[in-house]
Amino acid sequence: MSAASTTMTGYGVSPGLACAPLIRMAPPVVTDPAEAPGDDPAHEVQRVWQALAEVAEQLSAIGASGTGGAILEAGAAMASDVALVQAAARHICDGVPTAHSLTLAVDDYCGQLEGLGGYMAERAADLRDVRNRAVALLLGVPMPGIPRPGHPFILAAEDLSPADTVGLADSDAVGLLTERGGPTSHTAILARSLGLPAVVGCAEAAALPGGTPVILDGRAGTVEAHPTPERRQQALEEQARVRQQRRAHGPGRTADQHAVALLANIGTLGDASRAAQEDNEGVGLFRTEFLFLDRSEPPTIDEQIHAYTQVFTAFEGRAVTVRTLDAGSDKPLPFLRLPPEDNPALGVRGLRTSTVVPGILETQLKALVAAQQRTGVQMRVMAPMVSTVQEAAEFADLARSYGVQTVGIMIEVPAAALLANDLLQHVDFASIGTNDLAQYTLAADRTAHTLAHLLDPWQPALLTLIAQVCSAATALGRPVGLCGEAAADPLLAPVLVGLGVSSLSMATPAVAAVRDALTQLTLQDCKDLAASALCAREPAAARATVLRMSDAFPATASERQEA
Ligand code: PEP
Ligand code: MG
Repeated sequence: MSAASTTMTGYGVSPGLACAPLIRMAPPVVTDPAEAPGDDPAHEVQRVWQALAEVAEQLSAIGASGTGGAILEAGAAMASDVALVQAAARHICDGVPTAHSLTLAVDDYCGQLEGLGGYMAERAADLRDVRNRAVALLLGVPMPGIPRPGHPFILAAEDLSPADTVGLADSDAVGLLTERGGPTSHTAILARSLGLPAVVGCAEAAALPGGTPVILDGRAGTVEAHPTPERRQQALEEQARVRQQRRAHGPGRTADQHAVALLANIGTLGDASRAAQEDNEGVGLFRTEFLFLDRSEPPTIDEQIHAYTQVFTAFEGRAVTVRTLDAGSDKPLPFLRLPPEDNPALGVRGLRTSTVVPGILETQLKALVAAQQRTGVQMRVMAPMVSTVQEAAEFADLARSYGVQTVGIMIEVPAAALLANDLLQHVDFASIGTNDLAQYTLAADRTAHTLAHLLDPWQPALLTLIAQVCSAATALGRPVGLCGEAAADPLLAPVLVGLGVSSLSMATPAVAAVRDALTQLTLQDCKDLAASALCAREPAAARATVLRMSDAFPATASERQEA
């Protein structure tokens, strides 16, 4: 007798339908404290050293081959940390078996990172990934990673490390299902970058054994286990139909030709060169701090001019919106030597760092203008984490005094959203950062898995603030873009357009699906969706209403004419 069909829900973080058996990620190898220790401690320490060096090399290589480079480079840096070898060496000298010594050393570091909370706690997952890989090498067992069953499958895991997610690109995985994580987790961001349907934060999925047939809907956030043969057939047909659907190209537009610029979010030079080859209208968010994450000394003006020139050259003829250094909290820049804080997300970060590190903003503005003059790119410069009217006015004055022609601010703090009308008087444009705006509006740490439901971009309070910013911008005739993760959701994108957003910036692979979603709706449809989403009091209700309404709109121009 076949098992009864059940449906569970999580967060749909990367749209698309996948129908396949579920395969579980192999659990990490458990090290045995009772294993016989090696005869020669010095040799064992050398083996740990070599294993970690090999892991560092692997992570750098995976990072260089695709998305997630910065995250994987951070893992590679952890694997190369001498302190880790030294900590393992101490256990080896105490007679602990080699592989278990590394486990103990990593557990100790992870405990410290988790104690710090926030961004640092998230790094513990990366360090455990380093441990799992190095232990597999030490014990001569297969490397943890993506299964290779030889047929399409949905990969299920408690959570996925960035390295695992990148390895998916050349596997037969057609979908991703994790028990932990939320809409802004690394897994979600990278899954969208790979264009793989994904549901995260689905705790109930822990009960599904490997081999369970599943239909995963990365848009609705549902996971249907043991679907009936009819449902499977339907889902497979739908999956094939969606894949074959002719994709739109060129500038973003609604069905009635309302323009919505579709832009790329970039951080590293690698991101820039990949994004420049894709069909987008330029860059909506250049996270400049990503260029300098590993620096212990400030980049010189010449280094900055060189880096910015490379990015601008890649996007010649298109617009590039640069964000000045957004340092602190989840993006620490060691060279700024900011004092430790009890609550870094509410501390000296973003634009505020320029008040405690003299000259840093001025040097960056000078370098940006020099690079812009060399390349002739259409450059727009915006400041992160602006909170007050005075900050907006002072930033605009400073940027203009250095020759920046188009100056903007990010709206990521509720105070800025509430006073958008006043802040926007001083600048030429705004860009809404929904990752931080959700964090501060809902008072929920954006890196905390357990708070993912609060960080959901469909939260009515967040949509209400976005609506308020858009109406202030429209009244003043200022363009307002959106560059948080919310922009990459093809179901939410039309709602944002309906609220008044004039451009959407996202990880490059998400652009095509968002473009398709917009071409199927008129501006009035988008406004209707936005009005309904704003009325909902729960994210799930907003999503369900918009899903139902979107499905009811005529899907193509010809259907539209017939209707
Ligand atoms: C945001 O906060 O939404 C944003 C785009 O900035 P970041 O994710 O880099 O903080
Ligand atoms: Mg932000």
